[in-house]
Amino acid sequence: MERVAILALQGAFAEHQQMLQRLGAETVLIRNLEDWNGFLPVGGDGVGMSGLVIPGGESTAMMRIIRDEALFEPVRETILSGMPVFGTCAGLIMLDGGHLDTMDIKVRRNAYGRQLGSFHTVSEFRGIGPVPMTFIRAPYIESVSDGVEVLSVVDGHIVAAQQGNQLVTAFHPELDGDTRIHEYFLSMMGRM
Ligand code: GLN
Repeated sequence: MERVAILALQGAFAEHQQMLQRLGAETVLIRNLEDWNGFLPVGGDGVGMSGLVIPGGESTAMMRIIRDEALFEPVRETILSGMPVFGTCAGLIMLDGGHLDTMDIKVRRNAYGRQLGSFHTVSEFRGIGPVPMTFIRAPYIESVSDGVEVLSVVDGHIVAAQQGNQLVTAFHPELDGDTRIHEYFLSMMGRM
C-alpha cells in the first residue's frame, strides 16, 4: 500500500488526508523533523513514504516553519532524489525558485488580485479531461523551463504542471469531490 506523507506544518493538509484515505492510501502527517525521520523514503524493507504532499495555506508561514523545524534541507533533498511530490497552491509556491527551488517554474503569488482572489471553474486537465478547480488567493505559473509539462491553462495562465516526479496545481483538488488528480498522483508512485 502507498504511504503518503503530508506536510502538516500549516494549511489545508486534512483535506488531502481525507481524499487520499478515500482512495485507499495510508497517510502520515509530518509536523516536525522527528515525524519526518520516522517515515523516511521507502527502503528495501518497504517502510517509509512513497510520496509527499505539500498542501495549500500560506507560503510565507510555511516557509518559516519548514526552516524552524529543520525540514527545509531534508525535504528538498528527498524531492531532488526523485520522491513523487504533489504541491497545491501554496505547496506549488514552495517548489519554485524562491523557496525549495526544486522545480523550474516562475510563480506569481496572489496572482488574481483581491477581487478575483477566489473562484471556481471547470477546465481541461491534460490526460484527465474537464475537472473542477477551486482557486483561493491562488498563484499561477508565469513561465516554465524545458522539461516542465504544462497540464492545464485557465484564462491564458498555467495552473497545473509536472516536471518528472513533481506535480503542481494552483487550485485545490482536495476541496472538490473529484478524486482524479489525486489518483493520478498515486499512479506516479506506481500504484495503478
Ligand atoms: N496566497 C497564498 C500564498 O501566497 C496561497 C493560497 C493558498 O494556498 N490557497 O502562499
